[in-house]
Amino acid sequence: MTAFESGAATDVGQVRAHNEDTFVVAGTVFVVADGMGGHNGGEIASQIAVDRLAGIAPVSSIDDLVRGVQEANADILERAREQLELRGMGTTVVMLADIDQAGSHRLGVANVGDSRLYRLTDSGLHQHTEDHSLVEALVRDGRLTRAEAAVHPQRNIVTRALGIDDKVLVDAWELIPVVGDRYVLCSDGLFGEIDDDEIHEVLQATSSPQDAADELVRRAREAGGRDNITVVVVDVIEADPGEAGSDDRVAAIHKALSGTVLGDAGPTTPEPFRDESPSGFVPPAMTWRAGLLAAAVLAVMIGMLVAVSAIGRSGYTVVEGDNGTVVILKGRDGGFLFFDQTLEVESDIDVDELPPMALTAVREGQRFDAFETAELYLENLRTSSDSSGS
Ligand code: MG
Repeated sequence: MTAFESGAATDVGQVRAHNEDTFVVAGTVFVVADGMGGHNGGEIASQIAVDRLAGIAPVSSIDDLVRGVQEANADILERAREQLELRGMGTTVVMLADIDQAGSHRLGVANVGDSRLYRLTDSGLHQHTEDHSLVEALVRDGRLTRAEAAVHPQRNIVTRALGIDDKVLVDAWELIPVVGDRYVLCSDGLFGEIDDDEIHEVLQATSSPQDAADELVRRAREAGGRDNITVVVVDVIEADPGEAGSDDRVAAIHKALSGTVLGDAGPTTPEPFRDESPSGFVPPAMTWRAGLLAAAVLAVMIGMLVAVSAIGRSGYTVVEGDNGTVVILKGRDGGFLFFDQTLEVESDIDVDELPPMALTAVREGQRFDAFETAELYLENLRTSSDSSGS
């Protein structure tokens, strides 16, 4: 079996009027949720998510975690439909839970949004989860450096959250529990104020998880506390011996695992936030001598052309390509006006190696608003084609 000792702390910070973060420690389930939305929507969304996830034990597979997150998403959407002023509320969620699969134990991790899970082992502090945020996408694209991202004015914009859409892409992992490992779940109010080196230092210097959580929250508050700060520290104090974990502790990855996306061949819906920068309309230099009217007409025409081209070129479709592999196409299905879809990514995933559900989904074509999501879906297909064992 796996046993834990944990501590948790949360603080509204020095600037915000409300604490929209929620956390829970429910037996062997640990969750941090960072809510967003007006009219107390943020607090309500994060509370709904945590309430749902606190009740998911016993967890016997990673699918239980992913399903729990999807149910939390459905709960939030339902509440927002009942109460119109809560429309648009959402929340991030990061969770860690003991998975008991017929007596064999793993740690399950699920993540949506820009809250984080860190892991402290003998080899140091590692950020386990990937932020689903605008700045992270820009860093990956090479358009921002890490240092620029840390102070970017739009660093709060998330590209995935619960409460936005019926379908939510969930990153999930199975990890090998190792005695002595320390996990930290936190909202962005922590790492937005203090850097990873300082987090590392506190975690190493503090033996009790409660003291560590208190100290991290105190430091983030002192450093400015511009956002709500929530930290849950979880120590693995007992674990089955035998399985020697690799350094990253990862036993299985279910990146962007979403039963509904893979299992349901229906149309997919866009991400809550497009991570592409808007098509920039650059007005022509106003140096005409033929008169302002001509310039204005030209500007309008160019503007329309840019807008139409943006519509025609927007979105991505994951579908079977001409040579029987999975491809990502850019642009509207079947083209839009005179814009054809263009081949963006040609993968080496053979459609014949996909499990039946995934094959059906790919044959019909799966649409995504953001390239990032299409790529995640492709990676997910790769995992499922690998595990279908050919
Ligand atoms: Mg926050």
